[in-house]
Amino acid sequence: CGIVGAVGSRNIVPVLVEGLRRLEYRGYDSCGVAVHQGGELRRSRSTERVAELASLIEADGVAGVTGIAHTRWATHGAPVVSNAHPHFSHGPGADAAARPARIALVHNGIIENFEALREELKARGYLFTSQTDTEVIAHLVDSLYDGDLFEAVQQAVTRLQGAYAIAVFARDEPHRVVGAREGSPLVMGIGTGERAGEMFLASDAMALAGVTDQIVYLEEGDVVDLQIGKHWVVALDRASGRFRRVEREVRTVQ
Ligand code: GLU
Repeated sequence: CGIVGAVGSRNIVPVLVEGLRRLEYRGYDSCGVAVHQGGELRRSRSTERVAELASLIEADGVAGVTGIAHTRWATHGAPVVSNAHPHFSHGPGADAAARPARIALVHNGIIENFEALREELKARGYLFTSQTDTEVIAHLVDSLYDGDLFEAVQQAVTRLQGAYAIAVFARDEPHRVVGAREGSPLVMGIGTGERAGEMFLASDAMALAGVTDQIVYLEEGDVVDLQIGKHWVVALDRASGRFRRVEREVRTVQ
């Protein structure tokens, strides 16, 4: 339902939580935040309001310079904490849960071929801890990850059918968030002034009001790489099945 993401140079949890608050009017049944903290991926999730999530984040001591957040409106799987986003992938194997998470991901929309992908990923040793269509994307990205998240997400989205906007980050790349969209909106925000160098993602520019007015509206099939002080957008060329680099206009929004 609602997505916020950030690559910052200081704790960005307040930006993530404020972004979720600005998206609350859309309605949701659960919410969550994940950050890169102390070399690990950490998250807080709740089936209460964003205000309760904020208290939980405080109690859990969740803080970090890179993170993603979500308000969920369930399409697949009941509105319970285990189905709330962000979803993690710990990699394949029966002992995966005992290992630290490697990928964190939030998703708006519906993945139509999630059952086929889930069977394929199960056969490769991935354990599923939710009933969502979203969790397959986290494991799919993990299965394609070889140290370059931007590359892994480009490969992953070519396997997805349905509608999605996603934001994802990896334990091994602490200052990078990758986004992609097809059939669901996603924008990039570019920090200025005291936020120069910081980069943001959101499902609606309104979520970033007060953070930045420099917005790029991503187009269908775009995959975007956010790092401190730089960003890249690639677009899927359907004829060749390849991605090519594109320039997207930066707009000043009020
Ligand atoms: N299909 C996903 C789920 O049920 C995302 C729903 C949404 O857009 O919030 O978890």
